Amino acid sequence: MKPIEEIFPLPDTPKKIVITTHQKPDADAMGSSLGLKHFLALQGHEVTVISPTNWAGWVNWMPGTEEVINYEKEKSLAEAKLDAADWLFCLDFNIFHRTKTMTEKLKTVTCTRILIDHHQEPDTASFDYGISDTSKSSTCEMVYDFIMASGKGELINETIGECLYAGVVGDTGSFRFPSAKADVHSMVAHLKKKGLIHSPVHEQLFDNFFENRLRFIGWVLLHRMEVLYEYNTVVIAIPKSDLLKYEIKTGDTEGLVNFPQTISGIKLVALVIDRDEERKWSFRSKGDFDCNTFARKYFEGGGHFSASGGRSSDSLEKTVEHFKKVIKENQHLLQ
Ligand code: 5GP
Ligand code: MN
Repeated sequence: MKPIEEIFPLPDTPKKIVITTHQKPDADAMGSSLGLKHFLALQGHEVTVISPTNWAGWVNWMPGTEEVINYEKEKSLAEAKLDAADWLFCLDFNIFHRTKTMTEKLKTVTCTRILIDHHQEPDTASFDYGISDTSKSSTCEMVYDFIMASGKGELINETIGECLYAGVVGDTGSFRFPSAKADVHSMVAHLKKKGLIHSPVHEQLFDNFFENRLRFIGWVLLHRMEVLYEYNTVVIAIPKSDLLKYEIKTGDTEGLVNFPQTISGIKLVALVIDRDEERKWSFRSKGDFDCNTFARKYFEGGGHFSASGGRSSDSLEKTVEHFKKVIKENQHLLQ
């Protein structure tokens, strides 16, 4: 993978560009994809965003979401776009299998492949150009850096600002994580000067759910949360019956893993949800517990130091049992 700067200057003849991201795109994945799309489209390129799967309803407000192709729903259209592309940007993931059913197709793509991502252990052999930087708060911050480095920062407008801001808010926990460094705040100041109105973005991301989601959270915190004080750990296991009872949709469980972090002294929160095909884990830590290593070692996953995810093919009970066993083994890391 060559350094991303080597693709500059950006071409002034129109190119066919596809941008894709990880399955079930969150605010950073969709915000970086759409922010980059709007920037490239302003220069006359034909830009298509393809999501490997569907996404949460709270992403739909983002300008351009209505034109995003869902690979699982419109496979032949998406594959035709991928076959015709001159450039493929891969944002907010760094290994093809994070796109689930799109993985095999991505392996066949022959155009120039460009990576912009902030996760650990990139599969650099799969990309021609790129940047992988785990110190960055978000892929949205990296797309901003890319735009500025291209020398066309004057093209940043309110639309691009809204998309990029949403991802930064999402991935920094509204600017509370250590990753929200001075550069992040400088970037937001610049976006504000370019027309960003930030309050509606927060409302769209956090105050836009149905009643059932809040009642679901109440139920889960009351009945499914276990506090393991001896390990400064909280584990929440959500059975499928809860998802059905409260009619929980994609994205409704986002943020749930953060609630137990409000308990003083808690260093690790683990949430597991019984999805149809697997048991999906989310891990969040404070201090020096490395969630990425933990998820890689025990739950076939990965991510960042303070936030990671994983999976298991075991039953919900079995995977929680396994979690408690490995937490006991690792308790010295949680004191
Ligand atoms: P979440 O808990 O919000 O699903 O994921 C937290 C972070 O871990 C995100 O940055 C996400 O991309 C990453 N992540 C989640 N699940 C997996 C996984 O199975 N494998 C890897 N490599 N990263 C994951
Ligand atoms: Mn991200």
